[in-house]
Amino acid sequence: MPELPEVETTRRGIAPAVTGRVVQRVVVRDRRLRWPVPATLERQLPGGRITAVGRRAKYLLLDTDHGTALIHLGMSGSLSVVPCDTPPSAYDHVDLVLDDGMCLRLRDPRRFGAVLWTRDEPGQHHLLAELGPEPLGPDFDGAALYARTRGRSRAIRDLLLDSHIVAGIGNIYANEALFRAGIDPRRAAGRISRQRCERLVQALREVLQAAIEAGGSTLRDFRRADGRPGYFQLDLKVYGREGEPCPVCGSPIRRQVHGARSLFYCPKCQH
Ligand SMILES: [Zn+2]
Repeated sequence: MPELPEVETTRRGIAPAVTGRVVQRVVVRDRRLRWPVPATLERQLPGGRITAVGRRAKYLLLDTDHGTALIHLGMSGSLSVVPCDTPPSAYDHVDLVLDDGMCLRLRDPRRFGAVLWTRDEPGQHHLLAELGPEPLGPDFDGAALYARTRGRSRAIRDLLLDSHIVAGIGNIYANEALFRAGIDPRRAAGRISRQRCERLVQALREVLQAAIEAGGSTLRDFRRADGRPGYFQLDLKVYGREGEPCPVCGSPIRRQVHGARSLFYCPKCQH
């Protein structure tokens, strides 16, 4: 599933190819995505010039002088920039045809992604308005995490996955950051000290940044004809490593099913 680093890597991958281009046409082959692709996208976007490609949480924001297209990759979506005459596969549901003979193509086999349209300030869109701060942005720091977790008895891992607390953190990155910060993922969020909140924010930034940098090597794939960006493998310390030795102390990594998603942690290093 594309996580925040993959979405950011996608943003960096497509931005140079689409920024400044005029969208000539919108081709929707199947509008049954997570939400139906709105007809307003096809009516209002053509003729608009893409001025910037932004990101909020796991949404990509294609700003144009006609409005903003919001794109979410869902469970299995990917974007590629391909020549317009590249034959679409059965999973290539939406094309934005650009004025240089290329098109921005959404492939989404499982159709949990979304392409939406707004003419208003995108931050006010109902999907974005309630989101917490960006984990890599200036509004998210130890003080902010500390304030947002006071009085909360839920496990810290669960609060990190709550987009009202911080936007766009997935289970892999929550587990990896908690390991790096030495915090037990099951610990009640409200009982983590200010200093440890600082360390956790730092760890989150580091794992996300490392993943984005690892993704840089896949940028060339965004122009591949088959449109599959091939998400990068991270250097994971605990996630998916049940029973393997902790890279710090050698204790076997534990896995615990907690809610719908597994926790991975070192019983010695994390408390
Ligand atoms: Zn350990």
